[in-house]
Amino acid sequence: MSCGFCCDGTLIGYVQLDREELPVLRELMNIEDANGKEFFLQPCDNYCDGCSIYSKRPKQCANFKCGLLKSLEQKELDFDLAIEMINVVKQKKIAIEKKLATLQFELQSQSFHFKMVELKKLLQKNKSESSLTQNHIELISDLEQLDSLLSKKFGISLY
Ligand code: SF4
Ligand code: SF4
Repeated sequence: MSCGFCCDGTLIGYVQLDREELPVLRELMNIEDANGKEFFLQPCDNYCDGCSIYSKRPKQCANFKCGLLKSLEQKELDFDLAIEMINVVKQKKIAIEKKLATLQFELQSQSFHFKMVELKKLLQKNKSESSLTQNHIELISDLEQLDSLLSKKFGISLY
């Protein structure tokens, strides 16, 4: 309940759906399709400090466990430490969003996850340019730290 990164668009940009669950889910969410695959985009409209359609949630959601949850279940990680990791990610997201507002980047994506993918491409394009300010350099560093934390602790990379 303290986290929600797999529903609010932090870790994941979209969730793929199985054909047979579409009739029920069409009543509950906006479903997109591309190349014959159905999915919904994150942040999920049904996330509100927990899943508001829990008993009918998609299979992918029901089966998903991030690295942090697996480590907790396998008793490799203590609960308080897991909460601390979640809070570090939240703080890092806030720091990145503040810098994004200052630098006035125009990112098109809805989810934090896809915004970071867009941002990485933009920053990579400009990395060699002398126009990078201290704020840009700090933003790149924040992104790298967040990606490293998500990869190591949650098992999912932003890129
Ligand atoms: S701990 Fe992992 S599985 Fe649980 S809400 Fe956060 S990202 Fe999702
Ligand atoms: S349907 Fe529920 S579990 Fe799945 S992403 Fe949305 S809020 Fe999370």
